[in-house]
Amino acid sequence: MTGEIRKEKNNLIVPDFPVIPFIEGDGTGPDIWKASVRVFNAAVEKVYGSEKRIVWKEVLAGEKAFRETGNWLPEETLSTFRHYLVGIKGPLTTPVGEGMRSLNVALRQELDLYTCYRPVRYFDGVPSPVRHPEKVNMYIFRENTEDIYAGIEYLNGTPEAEKIRKFLSDEMGVRKIRFPESSSIGIKPVSVEGTERLVRQAIKFAVDRNLPSVTLVHKGNIMKFTEGAFMKWGYALAEREFSNEVFTWNRYREIADREGAAPADAALAEAVSNRKVIIKDVIADAFLQQILTRPEDYSVIATLNLNGDYISDALAAIVGGIGIAPGANINFESGHAIFEATHGTAPKYADQDKVNPGSVILSGALMFEFIGWKDVADRIYAGLEKTIRSGLVTYDFHRLMNNANLLKTSEFASAIINNL
Ligand code: NAP
Repeated sequence: MTGEIRKEKNNLIVPDFPVIPFIEGDGTGPDIWKASVRVFNAAVEKVYGSEKRIVWKEVLAGEKAFRETGNWLPEETLSTFRHYLVGIKGPLTTPVGEGMRSLNVALRQELDLYTCYRPVRYFDGVPSPVRHPEKVNMYIFRENTEDIYAGIEYLNGTPEAEKIRKFLSDEMGVRKIRFPESSSIGIKPVSVEGTERLVRQAIKFAVDRNLPSVTLVHKGNIMKFTEGAFMKWGYALAEREFSNEVFTWNRYREIADREGAAPADAALAEAVSNRKVIIKDVIADAFLQQILTRPEDYSVIATLNLNGDYISDALAAIVGGIGIAPGANINFESGHAIFEATHGTAPKYADQDKVNPGSVILSGALMFEFIGWKDVADRIYAGLEKTIRSGLVTYDFHRLMNNANLLKTSEFASAIINNL
């Protein structure tokens, strides 16, 4: 039956022929999309024969939308994503100019896609700058709607910046701005609800998949009431809503303070042997060191917007770069989700059938997992890994490998299809 994916109570209802809107993207987007959609259709056919199929529905955004409608992000695109719940997109140009919002940010805000989800794992054969990239196996849950990225900032010298400066100095007694007259000012909102809905999903994910830990990554040592509060609210939620499934470092510290280190260690060891999810926290800068020195200590990561931005790209680089890093923006309550390439449009390579389509292909695999077509996702992972392992790669990997065969975007997709 053809139709839209729906959310009923906590379940996603997926018809056999679900309509899925897609944006092909700007720059290299069309090359990548053409290649990716062939892989998706072949993988679905391999698993389900003619019983299931995706009905792709193109929606416009970016340069193509502007050319055809005069609008960078037509309302129809938003309403289509709203209606069909689950969609996928290639990279979009961020139009440069005062007052132009990033299209990606606009989509996330309009649909309240509060989690930026990025799994980071190593595919055998991918060239990496570290010795043991296979030790990285993490799932990043980055808060997507708050923090300094909320877009509340004022340029120095404007009446708005001046108004805020005056309010801070006259009404709040703030004397800490070093050069008040020439400062631009940004505002960093971090809320209880925003934190809790993100951390809840990160913990739920770890519990459902039997993963060892969730780490709250923050800079609470410096920003106590925003990042520090994120950590505090995260721990409180874990203890309140998942008391049977988790063991928190808060609890460890409580026992250690009351009874000493040995009983606290014993409680932690017992929690590990009972396969409870350990909830811990780490300061963001220390975390960025530790993903290089001992990545095996981390599994699910829950973090704020700005930290998450840096962390996602740093981890992607460790396992072989942004050419193959997948991502998704999700609202777990409404079921809205847009799966997307994490790299940009790489415009200098547009229409050359050259770049790596891996990021969109793997984002599609995430999408298949999300709608419950896990076997399709597994075929794609296996096909991509086998292709790279046999040395069939696009230019970005080719330049880092010895004895590999250089393929075009379309050829790389064909090789994956052969290896499904
Ligand atoms: P970019 O498009 O990601 O390109 C930077 C470099 O990354 C490329 O020159 C290329 O490296 C490499 N690269 C990117 N995609 C690749 C792929 N598929 N395969 C292999 N290598 C790839 O970043 P940018 O040049 O900063 O941004 C260009 C435009 O994209 C901007 O308008 C920006 O706003 C937009 N953007 C969109 C998104 C999104 O839609 N999610 C995200 C980021 C940026 P080499 O030069 O070394 O070959």
